[in-house]
Amino acid sequence: MEETVDRPHRKDETGMKREALTKIVKDKDKEEKKKPGLKPPENKPGFRINIWYFLGFFLLVSMVNAFFGERPQTIEFSEFKNKIVSGEIKQVELSDTYYTGFTTEVPDAIAKQGTRQDPVGNANVYRTIPVQDSGFIPLLDSKGVKYYTRPVSVGEMFGKVFLTWILPFGLLIALWWFMSSRMRGGAGGVMSFGKNKAQLVSEGDTGIKFSDVAGADEAKEELVEVVDFLKNSSRYDAIGGKVPKGVLLVGPPGTGKTMLAKAVAGEAGTPFFKMSGADFVELFVGVGAARVRDLFKEARKNAPCIIFIDELDAIGKSRGPSITGNDEREQTLNQLLVEMDGFDSKGGVIILAATNRPEILDPALLRPGRFDRQVLVDRPDLDGRKAILEIHSRNVQVDSSVDFSKVAAATVGFSGADLANLVNEAAILAVRRERKTVIQEDFTEAIEKLVAGLEKKSRVINKKEKEIVAYHETGHALVAAFTEGADPVQKISIVPRGMAALGYTMQLPSEDRFLITEDELLGRVDVLLGGRAAEQIVFGKISNGASNDLSRATDTVRKMITEYGMSEKFKNVYLGSNQSSYLGGMQTSERKEYSEKTQLYIDEQIAATINDRYEKVLRLLREKNDYLQLVAKKLLEVEVLDGEQFQALLDDSTKAA
Ligand code: ADP
Ligand code: ZN
Ligand code: MG
Repeated sequence: MEETVDRPHRKDETGMKREALTKIVKDKDKEEKKKPGLKPPENKPGFRINIWYFLGFFLLVSMVNAFFGERPQTIEFSEFKNKIVSGEIKQVELSDTYYTGFTTEVPDAIAKQGTRQDPVGNANVYRTIPVQDSGFIPLLDSKGVKYYTRPVSVGEMFGKVFLTWILPFGLLIALWWFMSSRMRGGAGGVMSFGKNKAQLVSEGDTGIKFSDVAGADEAKEELVEVVDFLKNSSRYDAIGGKVPKGVLLVGPPGTGKTMLAKAVAGEAGTPFFKMSGADFVELFVGVGAARVRDLFKEARKNAPCIIFIDELDAIGKSRGPSITGNDEREQTLNQLLVEMDGFDSKGGVIILAATNRPEILDPALLRPGRFDRQVLVDRPDLDGRKAILEIHSRNVQVDSSVDFSKVAAATVGFSGADLANLVNEAAILAVRRERKTVIQEDFTEAIEKLVAGLEKKSRVINKKEKEIVAYHETGHALVAAFTEGADPVQKISIVPRGMAALGYTMQLPSEDRFLITEDELLGRVDVLLGGRAAEQIVFGKISNGASNDLSRATDTVRKMITEYGMSEKFKNVYLGSNQSSYLGGMQTSERKEYSEKTQLYIDEQIAATINDRYEKVLRLLREKNDYLQLVAKKLLEVEVLDGEQFQALLDDSTKAA
């Protein structure tokens, strides 16, 4: 399918604003997750003897010893000295930590207890904390006091060894254990960091059915199949049909991707594991991977069921050749790939995922056997918007005079979430005006309010822009219709699509083609240039909306010259490329297959060819100006035209003329 998508350059300002918007919508999603009533998965913390118990035990013993062991009172060192001078102390035991004095000389066996008790035998015991004093020993000598040191007791020794060696060492081991157990998957870990945070929403709990989702008909059609598979997984097993393993919902924020996934679970009546990509991303390497493993284990136990990974891009970002890669995310992604390969959808587990940035996903995720099916969930068209407005107005007192078609017509580019918000805003306005029902005026005002906000985020196009887009797309379509050998137009749309496309024209090849003639290639270039040419004819000026068209047109012409040998000077010569290839920011090779002079020729030739074709397209469209006006006006009215409708318009006006 050939598409002509119009979008400004990705890195431009509008693109950045869109990112900001994505963030806002994401935050909303997070809030939604906190909804009560969702059953958390069972945690089974078994009693395990681990290093923490040992450490705690030792700590307790040494503390009890320190606090409750009876000890003689300590006195000040000066007082201790005075007692020696006065002759009260007759015997002193010296150790690193204490000096113990006895009032009578005591035998060794009793003296031993002196460190513990007060008094021992018939001696009073004094104890002091020693002070560096070189005159102390001479004092003892001069007073004839018996003094000695005694080796530390086993208990004391143990206490010391424990504090200086075992404790720090033990802590280290514990820390290591702690980290490694998290890497191993948290099972048996010290704390259940690795446990998955997935919410198990059991059957019916999602409470959402397909009928609650409006507008996304194509997506729904695809998903009905998934539901059927989940409901009748045994039947599929028996016949041996190949069933999808992973389905990726792709579309801008707020278009109902999360809702659709819930609806699948709701319709199939199966358990539903919902997890957001961000839940897998953790500070510690290995935790995310452990969560993935856990999630799949749990899902397999509950089959048939659905795993839903929202915001897949958070973990599915392309791994790329970056040197400063994010190990954690990469491990998590790898684990996801492994798990997806490792199970068979015959087991009845289907993986749904949603993303609004499919272009940044790792290609490995999209390979067969993984997310091999992609479902586009796009912003709703006119009818879709009307249906969504009706759904969200079910519980709102809307006056019977309100015409939802009008509201829908005024809300091009609104997503489902925007429309839900619109109904709410209108209801609030009605309440503020002290009305019992919501009337048309409330909607009009709410639209103005929201459009202003959304326009700032440059997502909703205003009336003038819409007009430009309509003529632009009609330009593509008309050139396609009047170019020999061009693929027929399948669809023209001015509903903003994807993250940045303002409108699109889709062409469907009438047959599979591998060989394309020179004329056909130039025809493609013409079609691509048709958008901008139409803008110039109708408005007398051009916009930036054609940058994607131009890049593709230029690319085609360049290839014609350098690869297909279709230029005057280098007829039948393959020139190859003059590009350097980069790997992770490091230039690895530079292939220069032709000279600077040739480069100059190529550049000039490209410019000349494009210019030539552009003039031709301008002539063609000027000639067909009646059609241009007719189709563009119709497009402004209905927003989407399929191939037949488009052709019918042309035929009718030809007949009329
Ligand atoms: P996404 O996951 O694509 O960002 P959500 O599924 O979270 O969007 O949609 C957000 C809200 O917008 C939904 O809860 C719903 O109220 C509304 N909504 C979005 N799309 C639709 C739709 N097609 N039909 C009805 N409501 C919709
Ligand atoms: Zn275009
Ligand atoms: Mg979502």
